[in-house]
Amino acid sequence: MGYFTRVWHGVKTTAVGLRLTWRHFFTKPTTIQYPEEQPYFSPFERGLHEFEPDKCIVCHLCAKACPVECIKIESVSPAGKKQLTKYEIDYAKCLFCSLCVDPCPVDCIHMGQQYDLSAYERVHGTRIDFTTGEGPWRTARTSADPDAGLRREG
Ligand code: SF4
Ligand code: SF4
Repeated sequence: MGYFTRVWHGVKTTAVGLRLTWRHFFTKPTTIQYPEEQPYFSPFERGLHEFEPDKCIVCHLCAKACPVECIKIESVSPAGKKQLTKYEIDYAKCLFCSLCVDPCPVDCIHMGQQYDLSAYERVHGTRIDFTTGEGPWRTARTSADPDAGLRREG
């Protein structure tokens, strides 16, 4: 193979190799700038729970349905009426199976769309108490927050 043939071969193979790269210059990117941008999920996504403490009648049906016993409920009964003091889910155990949602007679526990369950410090643990919103993730919100569990494009 002569000198000029080798040069031509080098230029041609480089152009072929860059063809895909150039094509991507002119196509809409499929990646997003997380966490500033959030992906859109189907309404059926099963992420972090949403909970409405004011509606809960402390019947424990959700906890009984949970296959891994990761829901902890505490209450007091000052005047004969049960008052919820703790509704905690341990996300180290939770399977996101949604079996706790259907038995609820007052429809106060739902599967939300929060998925980014990571934390900077291990000391914060993996539990969220939904009566206080305390937990390791900034996503520990309840349905009292109008944006709870909602992710929109753009
Ligand atoms: S989603 Fe499943 S594992 Fe998680 S709390 Fe509900 S029943 Fe338990
Ligand atoms: S099933 Fe519903 S009402 Fe009963 S304890 Fe669970 S969340 Fe509360």
